[in-house]
Amino acid sequence: MQERLDRAKRRQLLKEDQAWIGKAIDLSDIRTVQANTRHLTLMLLDTGVKRRASKAATFAAQLLDSTMMKQDAKPAACTKGCYYCCKTYVSVTIPEVLRVAHAMRGQAEKSARVAEAATVSAGIAQGAREVNRVICPILRDKVCSEYMTRPLACRAVLSKSLETCLRIFEENSGESFPFTDGTTDVRVYAVAILQASLMLSGLSHVHFEMNQALAVALREPDAEERWLAGEALFAGVPVDEADLKPSSLGAMTHALVENIRPTL
Ligand code: SF4
Repeated sequence: MQERLDRAKRRQLLKEDQAWIGKAIDLSDIRTVQANTRHLTLMLLDTGVKRRASKAATFAAQLLDSTMMKQDAKPAACTKGCYYCCKTYVSVTIPEVLRVAHAMRGQAEKSARVAEAATVSAGIAQGAREVNRVICPILRDKVCSEYMTRPLACRAVLSKSLETCLRIFEENSGESFPFTDGTTDVRVYAVAILQASLMLSGLSHVHFEMNQALAVALREPDAEERWLAGEALFAGVPVDEADLKPSSLGAMTHALVENIRPTL
């Protein structure tokens, strides 16, 4: 393990970071990724910041959105009212779940639908979700009713072919999702920043199935405080199997952790 940088060097890094914090990530410049990871970690470590888990999810979402907007990609085939992908397995970190739950509190009918979808989801193995579809309980009248707080996975699902989406989601064709160019890279960077920050601040960084995790968060009015205090509130929700296998996202997250740790 690398030794912690001395105070002067840490201060200098924080000063330089200001140029990149909260701005679109430059995928060719790792300093922009490191600066945002350090910022997010320090925010998560600051116990004086209320609802800091939800705020971390908001920060990661804004980073992803602004980076997507800067991408020189062809326009996506997705339009308002196009909801075909909203019945796939949605993988979320706990801060993302807490953020959506906070936005949904007090909406009894919607919470009941989440609880129902959670029960259905719990009965389907993750690998079978691509044929046993579960409509997202947040979907209303063919639009996402929590569009502003939707998770990173949903924000990054931008398709370049409606025809392919229809075959995938309506006919279960088994094809790969036709992401617009660059979308996957942006998502990987945004998720790696969030996950590395969670690891560095001693919080759970793994992904869970959204319906089940959201049902837990909605059931407990003080879910965020309790989770931040170390309570294993989500212990009964299955972890996304993708997080248990080696991946480029996992490698990037661990590399970021090793890089940032000595600078805190
Ligand atoms: S959260 Fe919104 S965008 Fe994501 S699957 Fe549900 S309805 Fe669709």
